[in-house]
Amino acid sequence: MATKTAAKKRGASKSKTSAKKATSKKAAVKKAPTKKATTKKATAKKKTARAKKQVWKSRAAIRLVEPGSQVDCVVCGERVKFQARMRNQQVICNIYTKGVWERVDHYHADCYKTAKQPYGKPAEKG
Ligand SMILES: [Zn+2]
Repeated sequence: MATKTAAKKRGASKSKTSAKKATSKKAAVKKAPTKKATTKKATAKKKTARAKKQVWKSRAAIRLVEPGSQVDCVVCGERVKFQARMRNQQVICNIYTKGVWERVDHYHADCYKTAKQPYGKPAEKG
């Protein structure tokens, strides 16, 4: 509680409130099992610095292309085509901006890799 006392000494009500917030947040993190925070596969490769806040983030999932698919790949601009014998895979990304869902992007599985997986490692359908 060193930060709290320091804020009190300073007497500034603004910093006092922020210090209080930070302290309670810290306490909550301490209570939570640390396992869950560290075992997130999808975010493991990404910067973990942003992991402190739980906000809806853009995410990717890999799926088989289905017959009648009418979407275009955002990388190469070509149709993500179903081919009977190929079992083509596509990556579907739900794009969130500031925690609000914005759109779905489609990629060829290979194009998504070429683009260096902008929304993280795609999750398998499970
Ligand atoms: Zn493509």
